[in-house]
Amino acid sequence: MKPRLPQALRVIERGWLSANNVVFLEGASASLVDSGYVSQAQQTLRLVREALDGRTLSRIVNTHSHSDHVGGNATLARAYGCTITIPAGIAAAVAAWDEDFLLLAPAGQSGERFQHQAVLHPGDDFELGGMVWRALAAPGHDMEALVFHCAEQRLLISGDALWRDGFGIQFAEIAGTAPGLAATKATLEAIGRLAVDAVIPGHGEPFVEFDEAMERALARVAAFAEDPSRMVRNAMKVLFIFKLLEVGRLPAAGLGDYLAAIPYFSEVFPRLEHATPAALAEWLLEDLGRAGVIRVRDGEILPTQTA
Ligand SMILES: [Zn+2]
Repeated sequence: MKPRLPQALRVIERGWLSANNVVFLEGASASLVDSGYVSQAQQTLRLVREALDGRTLSRIVNTHSHSDHVGGNATLARAYGCTITIPAGIAAAVAAWDEDFLLLAPAGQSGERFQHQAVLHPGDDFELGGMVWRALAAPGHDMEALVFHCAEQRLLISGDALWRDGFGIQFAEIAGTAPGLAATKATLEAIGRLAVDAVIPGHGEPFVEFDEAMERALARVAAFAEDPSRMVRNAMKVLFIFKLLEVGRLPAAGLGDYLAAIPYFSEVFPRLEHATPAALAEWLLEDLGRAGVIRVRDGEILPTQTA
């Protein structure tokens, strides 16, 4: 069910390449949460400009560091001279433009460098659209991610920490750099204790089925804990579809070599039993083809959804 959202809040629902953009109208100006992927920055600018309806954009606030959430920052800052506020935990990496930390180079993704002017710490209260929101730590998918909760309106901007069906890739858990899955579970449990009538997720439409989404997400955590290979396969599929949406089409022949050149695929997938780049390519084509997410035509792999 679609929630009734406050007048001052406009959700620009995007696909999977760009995260949703949430516009907050604030008199003659406005704020924006998350800015999409870099290759769609002009589309983001156009959509945001429409939503602003003559207002100026004074501030961007990011939920976390990933390419599909911060990719329009530079373009929007150039167009509007707006400030950029990011989670404190990613500030050093953004300032240094650390492509490894930002998962750009490792995942074969792109971004445009931007400068931030302010940070949010977990527990900070701030205003968006005349409403008071609290930034809450939401480690897991991104160990430094924040979600934003408005207690008065019972709204949650969840980024990739909670979707209607699941949550974002467990990067830290898979890389072995932090106990990310345990963090995801704790984050979900903390979110579950909040007063929430509606969720505005990073991807997908806003929803009111908070309890069901929470149940599904926790069930997925349990399934991943029981069978980590499932978590790895999920990550490979999601990253591959992201890449396919970015480039539009890929030749089916030589897909294994193409993927092997992307560090994340070449480092993570071989950990699965009997895994080679060719096996990865074969499995992806079969599994995603069966799911109807891709189709192969004249030797080319195409996504069935638009970016
Ligand atoms: Zn993310």
